[in-house]
Amino acid sequence: MEIKKVVVIGSGTMGSGIAAHLCNANIPVTLLDLKTEISEQARDKIHKSRPPLLLDKSKINNIKVGNIVDNFDEVKEADWVVEAVVERIDIKHDIYEKIFKDRKKGAIVSSNTSSIPIKVLSQHLSEEEKKDFCITHFFNPVRYMGLLEIVKNENNDLDKINSLKKFCEIELGKGAIVCNDTPGFLGNRIGVFAMQVAMTEAFKMNLSIEEADAIFGRPMGIPKTGIFGLYDLIGIDLMTDVLKSFIKELPETDMFHEVAKEVPLVKKLIETGYTGRKGKGGFYRVNKSNGKKVMEALNLETGEYSPTKKIILKVDKVDLKSLIERDDKYGKYAWSVISKIIKYASSLVPEITKEFNDIDEAMRLGFNWTKGPFEMLDEIGVANFFDKIEDYKGNKFLENLAQSKNESFYGERQKYTDIETLGKVKKTASSIDGNSSASIYRFKDYNIVEFTTKANALDYDSMDALQKATDKPLIIINESMQFSAGVNLSYIMDFADRGEFKSVEKFIRYFQETCKNLKYSDHPVVAAPSGLTLGGGFEVLVHSNFVASHTNIVIGLVETMVGLIPAGGGCKEMLARWLQTDEAKNDPHYAPLKVFDIIGYGKTATSPIEAEPMKYLRPEDKKIMNRNSLLEVSKKILEENRDFKSPAETTFNLPGKAVKDEMVKLLDKLYNEKIILDHGLKVATELANVLSGGDTSMDKALSEDDLFKLELDAFMKLIETKETQDRIKYTLSTGKPLVN
Ligand code: NAD
Repeated sequence: MEIKKVVVIGSGTMGSGIAAHLCNANIPVTLLDLKTEISEQARDKIHKSRPPLLLDKSKINNIKVGNIVDNFDEVKEADWVVEAVVERIDIKHDIYEKIFKDRKKGAIVSSNTSSIPIKVLSQHLSEEEKKDFCITHFFNPVRYMGLLEIVKNENNDLDKINSLKKFCEIELGKGAIVCNDTPGFLGNRIGVFAMQVAMTEAFKMNLSIEEADAIFGRPMGIPKTGIFGLYDLIGIDLMTDVLKSFIKELPETDMFHEVAKEVPLVKKLIETGYTGRKGKGGFYRVNKSNGKKVMEALNLETGEYSPTKKIILKVDKVDLKSLIERDDKYGKYAWSVISKIIKYASSLVPEITKEFNDIDEAMRLGFNWTKGPFEMLDEIGVANFFDKIEDYKGNKFLENLAQSKNESFYGERQKYTDIETLGKVKKTASSIDGNSSASIYRFKDYNIVEFTTKANALDYDSMDALQKATDKPLIIINESMQFSAGVNLSYIMDFADRGEFKSVEKFIRYFQETCKNLKYSDHPVVAAPSGLTLGGGFEVLVHSNFVASHTNIVIGLVETMVGLIPAGGGCKEMLARWLQTDEAKNDPHYAPLKVFDIIGYGKTATSPIEAEPMKYLRPEDKKIMNRNSLLEVSKKILEENRDFKSPAETTFNLPGKAVKDEMVKLLDKLYNEKIILDHGLKVATELANVLSGGDTSMDKALSEDDLFKLELDAFMKLIETKETQDRIKYTLSTGKPLVN
């Protein structure tokens, strides 16, 4: 079965997200709603969405729109019809009747329902129709969330389900997990339970919402929105509806009921319009005080708001063993929450899926956890877990495990896919070296470097790992969300605060040396980025010989935002790329001016399609929808380049003063119009000096080392200024740029 055309019915949050993602995969798609105006508006929203749902905004008109009366004929040509209308069974049943009357013979029909069992959805379908009907449960936002749960019914044509799964995996890049027809399937069943446990335990243990979010967040490998932040993000009223649906569907004996009881404070928040970020606020709110915006948090006991308090836990890595052993309320809370999640998830095997492994994957892909409940158990250790846990009677999974005491119960990872993923390979590869910022694995005849810091920010140790790993062909790849958000600015600021600028210089030199080593080592280097690939992260990529990029990347050189310039060879490599263009061959000012514009404004791209015109990526770089496939594609690149020879060194003929004067003229204009301020002018002038080649002229060939030196000198001049340090501090504390 080939899927060449898709119709999506219902153009709300999910329908439009699914249509946009089909468009990303170059599949012709039609979006139908009650009225054409509704689906037209949905298409406009897709176009304006942030973060963008489309890889390439110019493709927006590849999404056809219409209404379910005049344009229903579209269904006749579709190979797959996705229903994503409101969660009302009567409406869904009506639509299925119409679809099945008109659909092409054998076309797949699926529902995006979050809570209605397939038994109920398909109750009016004939046996023949049921063969082609299933649930395809996408997560919001569709482009970015990896999980797709597929729920079959007992009549399904299994070949068809498998080919739909393959299509969703390869073409749409989803982690497609087939699961049983149980309430909330895998992700929401465990995810919502986990949220409820985290919330109710915070109430019970008298933790403030900031404290609970500080624990049920990064230290547990969970996104930093935590629990209360996540409630606000989803919508407190919507969460209440979700809970009601679980309460209705689940048997009274289910542990879910214990954590889903109505909380008076939550009820009051909804009644008073505090429904979360979309309302007046929620557990957190932004309040104006003396003309300034202040983030406030709700006191769970008094119901009053007060300015948020930063909780310092001194945890910079996920280390569950240490976390649950902490002899304070945070340790007790962590253990209580984690142990309950493990207990609940394990009690549901094999009812919701026979592979406990799938539950972990659903939590990674659907909730962005770094580890699912069974991996948490694996990390804590079986003996350790049973030493601490009190009651697990009746939980077959845990009873068996307690008996077998099998510390290596976990086995393979990512069983739901045939793809040879990094997760699978890491389990069999030997860990040959590593430090606190990166791990090095050896698999067969190549090495893997995985950065392991927060947002994979780079420091001396990250460079050390890269240096060591170039003794074999190398793939730089990681499982966490970001490839690298750039150089670790806290690390740089620690030196700057102590006035240890020599140490900063030493680090930058090592960074440059490492990048050069990546480019010129005897063995090929492949960078396989996903997520943020910024600043120093981009510089690692740009010095790699090959790139296999996930389509969800945010890539660019953003150093100027923090008052610096790229000094790990970013300026140099961007110049090299732009100097190769025909325009540059005719006009010596073309390349420096182009790069000045891109780096000066700190331009970023949110997909490979946006990245290519800026030359952050090249046409020959591989672009891949399924993140799981990055390793396989990277490996293939290495195989195809067994006779790899490192490239010849680049030389640069740059105009020097002539083009620098042109840049300064542009800056003067921006300065006079107050678009940039004093320090902006200084940073951009330093950048102009580097990109013009400094004190040079077109007849002089500069080496890569000359360019590295220009970058280093400019970087050092800037980092020593108070204004750059102010910018860095501001960005570190607010996540936003300071204009000074
Ligand atoms: P929504 O309210 O944003 O959109 C529903 C759309 O359906 C609206 O545009 C509405 O006009 C349209 N509609 C209603 N009746 C229709 C009909 N008879 N014919 C055609 N269109 C009709 O809803 P949503 O959040 O996109 O949810 C859609 C489905 O996806 C639901 O089944 C929901 O449970 C499920 N779901 C939602 C999410 C989420 O995060 N929002 C996540 C996963 C699954």
